[in-house]
Amino acid sequence: MRYFPVFLDLQGRDVLVVGGGAVALRKAETLRSAGARVTVIGESIHDELRARAARGEIALVERCFAASDVAAPWLIVAATNSRDVNAEVARAAQAARIPCNVVDDRELSSCIMPAIIDRSPVQIAVSTGGTSPVLARLIRERLEALLDESLGPLARFADRWRATARQVLANVTARRQYFSWLLTGPAASAIRARRGADADRLATRELARRRRLADRDAALAEGSPAAGHVSLVGAGPGDPGLLTLKGLRALQEADVVIHDRLASPDVLELARRDAERIDAGKRPGAGATQSGINALLVEHARRGRRVVRLKGGDPFIFGRGGEEIDALRAAGISFDVIPGITAAVAAGAYAAIPLTDRRHAQAVRLITGNDAAVLDAFDFSDVAAGRETLAVYMGVAQLPALRERLLRAGAPPALHVAIVENSSRANQRVVATTVDDLAAAAAAHRVSSPAVTLVGSVTASATATSVESAPKPIVLNA
Ligand code: SAH
Repeated sequence: MRYFPVFLDLQGRDVLVVGGGAVALRKAETLRSAGARVTVIGESIHDELRARAARGEIALVERCFAASDVAAPWLIVAATNSRDVNAEVARAAQAARIPCNVVDDRELSSCIMPAIIDRSPVQIAVSTGGTSPVLARLIRERLEALLDESLGPLARFADRWRATARQVLANVTARRQYFSWLLTGPAASAIRARRGADADRLATRELARRRRLADRDAALAEGSPAAGHVSLVGAGPGDPGLLTLKGLRALQEADVVIHDRLASPDVLELARRDAERIDAGKRPGAGATQSGINALLVEHARRGRRVVRLKGGDPFIFGRGGEEIDALRAAGISFDVIPGITAAVAAGAYAAIPLTDRRHAQAVRLITGNDAAVLDAFDFSDVAAGRETLAVYMGVAQLPALRERLLRAGAPPALHVAIVENSSRANQRVVATTVDDLAAAAAAHRVSSPAVTLVGSVTASATATSVESAPKPIVLNA
């Protein structure tokens, strides 16, 4: 972090603006809207500033800046059109240890001003670390569009219910769930529609309902907390943009996130800040076992926590999600499953390989290739005949065996193959090769896990195409 963000309480506090032009006027206005007592020092003064001073809204000192001016304020803004004067202001501020912003000059500034989205009491401040004010403005525009005007009223609404909810619901999790309902459910809709009385009625009723439930649970469990819940969430192949909105919501409500090795750090980053994160990555020969993971899910849910089991790709595609929900069912724990984008689908998209392009394939098959005996159980005649695209998961170590089985099934040696490694991640690589060369090419390029091997003539297009949507597609023609 290059800058530490804070929100200053400037109500009734002195702030100094140096400069008398349009920029100084704008800054003085913003500062005044935050309740600051603004003094403007400058030589040639904008008419509007003069008018504001006449109305008593700001104090005006018409002369050039002197270092002694920095004695009292909480914050200084230098907005003159002379870099020398601005530098002098910055120096004086620095000596007095008063934060100083020099407009459009991050070298001279000890603090920088964000772009602001104001839905008071909710405020969002956007900073690009001074690298691009234009980018900050663009981000602000997007957020402005995303966050409607009801955000402020909603925040005040939730604030009004805070004390009551604390009295009625003793359990923190129950309270959090109540507020989550308050801010997203029918009461929130009523606030948006400016029907405050309806919103309060709904909030009262819901609070009473939750209290009854909590009492009943407590009675049932004789003091043990309410049953938790487990969401199996597909994290997708790595690019956090591929997470579903439902998955994101589950991550943000989770008390604990139990993730595997393939769930990317960028996706984990989206979980609630104070959620506990547990790495249950199963590495060959080490790490957590599946039964250990099952037990972990049950244990955390029994403690009344909202658990997200975050799995790379889709939970039910070679993800052992089936075994996990069996364990949850057996333990009587409620669960839901939120799908994710599986590696083969991502690899197709990010390497520009249409998996079922009808000119080449009428089917796509996802198989696991982690052991030669498993490969023997498959019939490769459809892919050999050019009717099917094959997506082989977990198969990096068995590519020689895969090659051999494909050739034995009659696949043309020149049939196209694309090995997509780290699909959708910044280090994605695509090795474009053929059935005959696939093992040699993978070895030559040191392909490593995670990688999906796509077999079939649909992959021919991967040789020539570079893809805009992928972070940095590196296509290696073997
Ligand atoms: N549930 C996951 C698959 C888990 S099995 C899913 O739906 O994608 C693990 C295998 O998935 C890896 O060996 C690899 O073959 C594939 N895989 C997962 N993420 C990948 C990625 N980002 N790029 C390429 N292959 C990936």
